Amino acid sequence: MKYYNSNTIIYLDGRFEKAVDSSTDLYGQSLHYGYAAFEGIRAYKTHNGNRIFKAAAHFDRLERSCQLANIPFPWDKQDLIKETYKLLTLNKLKDAYIRPLVFCHPNMKLNEPSGVSILICAWDWDAYSGNKLLKLTISDYERPNPKSTPMEAKLSGNYVNSILATTAANIKGYDEALLLDMHGFIAEASGANIFLEKDGKLYTPSPGNILSGITRATVKELCTVLDIECIEKKLTVEDLRQADSAFLCGTATEVAGIASVDDIVFRSLWRESIGYTIQRAYKNLVLEKVNYEVII
Ligand code: PMP
Repeated sequence: MKYYNSNTIIYLDGRFEKAVDSSTDLYGQSLHYGYAAFEGIRAYKTHNGNRIFKAAAHFDRLERSCQLANIPFPWDKQDLIKETYKLLTLNKLKDAYIRPLVFCHPNMKLNEPSGVSILICAWDWDAYSGNKLLKLTISDYERPNPKSTPMEAKLSGNYVNSILATTAANIKGYDEALLLDMHGFIAEASGANIFLEKDGKLYTPSPGNILSGITRATVKELCTVLDIECIEKKLTVEDLRQADSAFLCGTATEVAGIASVDDIVFRSLWRESIGYTIQRAYKNLVLEKVNYEVII
């Protein structure tokens, strides 16, 4: 995948400049130690114009990730949102993925950063990824213990764990890895949260050992609107085995049905599942077609 071309503009520390003319210092603390925070945000072409979905929540989380990792965040979030809209316009992007990254300046020591920068870049991303059902495997890698690294923070270094798990799953022929926490409870996929359906209710792992995503929060909001009971609790692999259906959700993934997890194949037809209703409601929400006629 090509993320930029010779015309692409990025935002770097208050300036718009060409991606091909930009550079970074090879002695940066973030490059060497993964000491950086980032976001993954989506913009959609809606009938109300181009909209960044839940922009404020994403920039709030970016600031919170920095706070949890003692990385300074000296920017005004409203200003960053404004600049992000400008970035989309400059790059003529409508359906897009937006990647803000806060990274630290050169410092080879393991102490506080010598300075911070913010990069915002964006690239074209299809409006809605579709209905492919995913084949998951339970990873041999666990999610890190939140006493080792703040799991509520979206820190670059945390993603070594995600890359290891995804790569191992892909080598075995699976689409995605499902990771357990250090106590053996279901945590999340390498870049998405999980929901299970059982007897007309949804279940999702409680926060603590996961990145409790903005899409996860949106699914819970949709459940309230659609009058679907949604319960947060510790979930076991046995719960997964007993589930009628399951889905992943995340900014990039949106809402994606799960066909199977290793030898566990879900009984319900996806189109008859709560996940399918949520998938359609989510699509309507991000595209600002706010009606909930999808209720089955
Ligand atoms: N968990 C992990 C590990 C993730 O990387 C993501 C993607 N940011 C999510 C969950 C879902 O978060 P969100 O819905 O905020 O994109």
